Amino acid sequence: MKRELNFEGNSPLLYLIATPIGNLSEFSPRAIDVIKEMDYVAAEDTRNASALLSRFSLSKPTISCREHNEEEAASKIVELLKEGKKVCYMSDAGYPTLSDPGERLVARCLEQGIKVTVVSGPSAAINALSCSGLDSSHFYFEGFLPAKESERNEELRELAKRKETLIFYESPHRITKTLIAMAASLGNRKAVIARELTKLHEEFIRGTLSELALEPEDSLRGEMVIVVEGNLEKEEEADDNAILLALKDELDWGRKGKEAVKNVAANLSVPKNRVYALYLSAFKAEN
Ligand code: SAM
Repeated sequence: MKRELNFEGNSPLLYLIATPIGNLSEFSPRAIDVIKEMDYVAAEDTRNASALLSRFSLSKPTISCREHNEEEAASKIVELLKEGKKVCYMSDAGYPTLSDPGERLVARCLEQGIKVTVVSGPSAAINALSCSGLDSSHFYFEGFLPAKESERNEELRELAKRKETLIFYESPHRITKTLIAMAASLGNRKAVIARELTKLHEEFIRGTLSELALEPEDSLRGEMVIVVEGNLEKEEEADDNAILLALKDELDWGRKGKEAVKNVAANLSVPKNRVYALYLSAFKAEN
């Protein structure tokens, strides 16, 4: 185990910088201050990063670190940080590592004892969830579903069991197909498309999955997040036979009445008094 304060001492520290997902005013004053101090800005797309920096009158040497060269770029960034150079990393929009490169860079830095911090900013997933009107207390971030149809459907079948609100990223050319597949696998749940967040044409389209799937495809342009209600179906409570069998099993294992009732109630998620009543009627005389 190792404990070290991020902003104490001079040991190397990688800054991740969250960037705007549309509205450039959301580039934080802290991000600008941090970038001013950097020797290098590593980025998913160096041209986009330079364009963003120039909007804030900043200019820094850049390093490309994208999905296809992340390992080599990470080694180079680690070396620079170890030499005492200051380096930050940004992806094209929102948080690096969230359906964006950066995860391997962070892992390599941590392996080499380099600390990591993040300058906060917007993320499409959180913006969409907070305006969705769906349960935000528990959520599951899926990001992009697999592109291959069979893998996508398999993944959706797995997700169908989850009780948490589900958050997906999707591109405009696949959105309708994805909504149809979701309606087929998840059932006709409430859902929200959060489109063009923080931009002039920001829009929330709310309905059921099948209603959303029927929206004209050419009206679903731009960048979109799909937020879908979790599985709210109550699991069927165990019937009397299942409880009696579970009780018998507990008693056969030598557990006393009270303990058997407690275990069965917990294992089958049924009220203790219901299990106890069945225990009294079926087994009390024997135990
Ligand atoms: N790292 C980013 C984040 O923190 O949100 C996500 C990057 S991912 C490559 C891009 C996807 O995020 C888009 O396909 C879309 O699903 C979603 N997205 C990004 N910006 C958005 C916006 N302004 N409005 C709606 N969705 C957006």
